Amino acid sequence: MKNIAYYNGRIAAIEDMMIPMNDRACYFADGVYDAMFTVNHVPLSLDDHLARFYRSARRIDIEIPMPYDELRAMVVDFCKRVDSPDAMAYVQVSRGVGMRNHPYKGAQSGPSLWVWVKPDGLDPMMREYACITAEDTRYLMCDVKTINLLPSVMYAQRAEEAGCDETILHRGERVTECAHSNVHILKDGTFITAPCDNLILPGITRAHRIAQCKEMGIPVEERPFTVSEMMDADEIFFTSASALCCRVTMIDGKRVGGRDTALIRKIQQAAWDEAIAEAGIAPVPFK
Ligand code: PLP
Repeated sequence: MKNIAYYNGRIAAIEDMMIPMNDRACYFADGVYDAMFTVNHVPLSLDDHLARFYRSARRIDIEIPMPYDELRAMVVDFCKRVDSPDAMAYVQVSRGVGMRNHPYKGAQSGPSLWVWVKPDGLDPMMREYACITAEDTRYLMCDVKTINLLPSVMYAQRAEEAGCDETILHRGERVTECAHSNVHILKDGTFITAPCDNLILPGITRAHRIAQCKEMGIPVEERPFTVSEMMDADEIFFTSASALCCRVTMIDGKRVGGRDTALIRKIQQAAWDEAIAEAGIAPVPFK
């Protein structure tokens, strides 16, 4: 099948799914989500993503209405059932269905659970990426993977209109993250990335790249860095479930990075090796 979806017990194609008007996801974006990508029908870093999903839900007082092992099995099964070996797998929980009212202790149905898988692919790593920058005007709980994504939608639209791929966000001089990824720099052989606090999402891919760099003996600094440090960095790259390690060579129309190709390629190769090992496919060069 092309794609597959689950919502509160019903399974069908995504296009055939309906949700109740009173689901609090519609009124308040009152929920959290997580997303991962598959290679060879295998969702990469599945347990990391699902663990964060349950953590995010707990942070906003929602209990996911399915035990971990059952949800995990459903995601694995859906990834096998879609035709495309390359796909995006998505899980979302909202607080449930009830007459519109901001407080949530009243009559509710109990949380609603979404799962779907649709064809999609990893962002190519051989490509060079262009970004714009923007003041980070999001709220101060960016560590929770909320479905309230209005700022990201606006940032993505602006990037697209500028012919760019991502928006790098900053609060004043301090770089936080991108609209849908984490951003990092390489300077004098050191991997520098913003610390995990309430200003960024603790990216699963970020954590994997940090762990791999440490294993390879590449020094890692988790500390705030500035826009000017970024513009002057040897390399700039962003990471997310779809972007294992994507190199940025243009920011706000200026050429940037491009001064440590060997190191960025080494990190990309390690990212790709990890992905194909997990997916159980024979080594092939990354695109
Ligand atoms: N930051 C934001 C705002 C994101 O939306 C995402 C991914 O969706 C990330 C960072 C990267 O997180 P991960 O590597 O877990 O996909």
